[in-house]
Amino acid sequence: MITQISKNIWKLDADSNIYFLDFDKKILIDTGRRSKRNLLETYLSKVVNFDDIEIVIFTHLHYDHIGNFDLFKNAKFYASKKEIADFKESKNNVVLDESIAAIFNVELNALPEEIAGLKVIETPGHTGGSICLWYEKEKILFTGDTIFNKRITGRIDLPTSEPREMTKSIMKLLEYNCKIICPGHDY
Ligand SMILES: [Zn+2]
Repeated sequence: MITQISKNIWKLDADSNIYFLDFDKKILIDTGRRSKRNLLETYLSKVVNFDDIEIVIFTHLHYDHIGNFDLFKNAKFYASKKEIADFKESKNNVVLDESIAAIFNVELNALPEEIAGLKVIETPGHTGGSICLWYEKEKILFTGDTIFNKRITGRIDLPTSEPREMTKSIMKLLEYNCKIICPGHDY
């Protein structure tokens, strides 16, 4: 259920992929779907104590990526400035699930250009504020719902999608000489 991607990176599939990065700081990328909470409790808890997570980075704020935010009581939460602005304007359009939007009450911080050894790449398309993360040291690209694998991209027909930006975003990602793609979903 939990897969080790490299020496200090693990992946858990909770209907969207959660990545745990055991760097100088302990980082999570996305938090999965709320209905899959038991998978976090059973498997993710084997590799990290939830209270030790210091940084949670959301690739975007769809319900299936933010669902278990409240398990990480000591974390600081990040999303792109654009995603946060869209969220403030219309929670439901950004989260796509009213019940999750209603309980999602964390303080969101705007992502800087670089965070804890990861470069933030703005990749509007799937949502206007979607980002990818680049880990140069091991040439790993975390792609959220921008790319699922080399041929398939995320949907671009959702309320805050920016379909015309998607091609540009993909072109931007192609400039990275990546060895491993860590997508938001395995399909
Ligand atoms: Zn999504």
